[in-house]
Amino acid sequence: MKKVNCDLCGKNSYKILGKASENILVKCKLCGHIYMPYRPTKEEMIEIYNEDYFGEMYINGNEKADYNYLEDKPNILKFVKKRFATIHKYKKPGKILDIGCAMGFYLEYAQKVGWDVYGIEISEYAANYAKELLGNRKVYNKAIEDIKFKKNYFDVITMWLVFEHMVDPISTLKKIFKWLKPDGILGIKVPNGDGITFRSNLNKWIIQHPADHYCDYTPDTLERIMSQIGFELLEYETEGIYLERLTDKEAWLKSNEIIDFYNNTAKKVNIGDSLVMFFKKIGEEKNYG
Ligand SMILES: [Zn+2]
Repeated sequence: MKKVNCDLCGKNSYKILGKASENILVKCKLCGHIYMPYRPTKEEMIEIYNEDYFGEMYINGNEKADYNYLEDKPNILKFVKKRFATIHKYKKPGKILDIGCAMGFYLEYAQKVGWDVYGIEISEYAANYAKELLGNRKVYNKAIEDIKFKKNYFDVITMWLVFEHMVDPISTLKKIFKWLKPDGILGIKVPNGDGITFRSNLNKWIIQHPADHYCDYTPDTLERIMSQIGFELLEYETEGIYLERLTDKEAWLKSNEIIDFYNNTAKKVNIGDSLVMFFKKIGEEKNYG
């Protein structure tokens, strides 16, 4: 493990929020970014994402599920359709790269509706599955640091529950900026560090904090990081608003009126536990290597 400074402002002045796994979760005193300062090396990363990551560890990390990533496919597909409905508002099918494509479920849908699909996946197990599923060799089983694409190559790049795992998020974003065409779209989903669980029960958030989520982005910090690199926010929403995280009153959980009221309110104030944001590459060409 190595220690890093704040991803957003580059300084090293923080308040400790708590001990999370073998790490600490901190909040930068200067810019408000929430992160874990100790990060693994590349070799340690490859160790983490073995077959077990999509099996036993997926089950353990998902409080609502007792199934693995593969068995979770029908549920994942609902999100896939929603994500592409948004993407198609901005872009017709062209070239798409899914970073951290896991077993290829997003790309499988994209390919069906006409996209030329590319994936990067650090887990050999998941990458092999995705290659087979897509009948496609353009799934690269590598760390993003070891990947090269031409400049201005992709229409869309996506990262679904992946960016929070990035050990060096800024250099990842610089690569994405370079690989996207001008006006290209970046779609991203991360756990919401300003969602209902974080706000109402920080202790629970820290206890359940995965060891490999190095940053807890909020709508505000994610937008600031993106604009530093050269991305403009197009739209965002939050998801994963569960009444049962707030109450265990059986009567409330069974009342459709209370559930509707809660869902409408939570949606309006955008406090879901996942954050989905779409950005556009803007501005003049920056020289990101
Ligand atoms: Zn900072």
